[in-house]
Amino acid sequence: MDSQNQKVSILGAGLVGSLLSIFLAKKGYSVTIFERRGDMRKAGALGGRSINLALSRRGLKALEAVGLKEKVQESCIPMPGRMIHDLEGNLSFQPYGKEGQFINSVSRGGLNELLMSEAEAHGVDIRFDHKCEEVDFDTATAYFENGEKVSADFLFGADGAFSALRSAMQKTDRFNYAQEYISAGYKELTMPPTANGDFALDPNALHIWPRGEYMLIALPNLDKSFTCTLFFPFEGKISFEAIKTEEDVQQFFESKFKDALPFLPELKTEFFENPTSSLITVRCKPWVKGNTALIGDAAHALVPFYGQGMNAGFEDCFVFNELLEKHGAINPALLAEYEALRIPDGNAIADLALYNFIEMRDKVADPMFVLQKKIEKRLNELFPEKWIPLYTMVTFSDFRYSEAHALGKKQQAIMDQVLAQPNIEEVWEGLDFEEIVGRLK
Ligand code: FAD
Repeated sequence: MDSQNQKVSILGAGLVGSLLSIFLAKKGYSVTIFERRGDMRKAGALGGRSINLALSRRGLKALEAVGLKEKVQESCIPMPGRMIHDLEGNLSFQPYGKEGQFINSVSRGGLNELLMSEAEAHGVDIRFDHKCEEVDFDTATAYFENGEKVSADFLFGADGAFSALRSAMQKTDRFNYAQEYISAGYKELTMPPTANGDFALDPNALHIWPRGEYMLIALPNLDKSFTCTLFFPFEGKISFEAIKTEEDVQQFFESKFKDALPFLPELKTEFFENPTSSLITVRCKPWVKGNTALIGDAAHALVPFYGQGMNAGFEDCFVFNELLEKHGAINPALLAEYEALRIPDGNAIADLALYNFIEMRDKVADPMFVLQKKIEKRLNELFPEKWIPLYTMVTFSDFRYSEAHALGKKQQAIMDQVLAQPNIEEVWEGLDFEEIVGRLK
């Protein structure tokens, strides 16, 4: 399908659908996005709550390809590492990578609005209040709740974790689908600026209160507030279910998040008024059927613990655009390559994201984990081409997620051996680092 006079429909004007539309419009396609909700740019549509996301290399690379990297970075706050808060309120900083490497806190709503406006500036037509309910794969026809039906030459489902296109695919023969909810959910809480109008915490860090089975995190916003997220079991002795009264909330935060409590003035109200949301992983195959394809969360919903869901979705768009350049048109060869590249990568980042919950809520507080980071940092300094820590591969590099995952497993097996050596805390600086790297072969 050549771009000349070709019509593409995209379901969903979220982060991924909006960015995809810009890539396609720039290639000459006539693009219409159908979005279930109203226009979030209209006053008050976001409900006044700031929600932020960590944007890293893969996302920035895709934004750069459409000329938006600098513009987006203007409203980002760099986070070069994690700030760990222990039970007593002591702080320790763990850099994410090398000097100069950082992830970015960005407003979800702000970024989405910018992408939608840029899409419109490139001629994309966004039709709000259009909820897709059914799809015909061969004619790329979407059927909407309001009775309309629209056909195109090709249709993308960028309609998120509960995609209508994917639901339609699920009803077809030989469609593989797996979904898994984790036992924890999450609740967002607001940490406003202090009375002096300052950030309550150091803004240049992603703050974590790791508590074993659960954790609180905080990311900075440009208005000097932080958005905090409590990841917490739904049921059990320590759980959302077990916290029933304002007094319970107060006591729980006093005992577990003592240093955060003074900065959460609305905690007792927000805890009961803000929604408790669930966390799902979705894997499926194929991603392409007839003249339709899945992209972003619709294809691979992830738990948020690697901060990669949006980044992975933006990388889907980047890869699709590269394939368009290679194949010249949306054709079977392009679509086959898109699936061959992105399905294994989607599955790999889904696994990594699940694993990272354990790392964030538990391991970051473990001295052996901190030591592993030190040893890996040294290995990377000495052999930068050969030993790249997993977090760096995922967050600061272009390694395919599937390759990073495979190499990360090998590295972890080696590190497990290294850390099992007697008195490793005392002797690590004298290790034979070349021999350790040699074990990768
Ligand atoms: P969505 O953002 O879900 O957008 C889908 C759009 O489709 C929506 O606008 C929706 O209204 C619309 N839609 C849905 N159904 C229909 C329909 N039937 N018809 C028409 N339109 C429809 N990712 C990161 O990279 N970094 C992070 O730090 C990070 N933090 C996160 C924290 C939390 C708590 C969560 C839950 C996720 C986080 N993510 C993060 C993941 C990120 O939010 C998602 O990966 C990203 O939003 C996916 O974008 P999308 O456009 O594919 O889907």
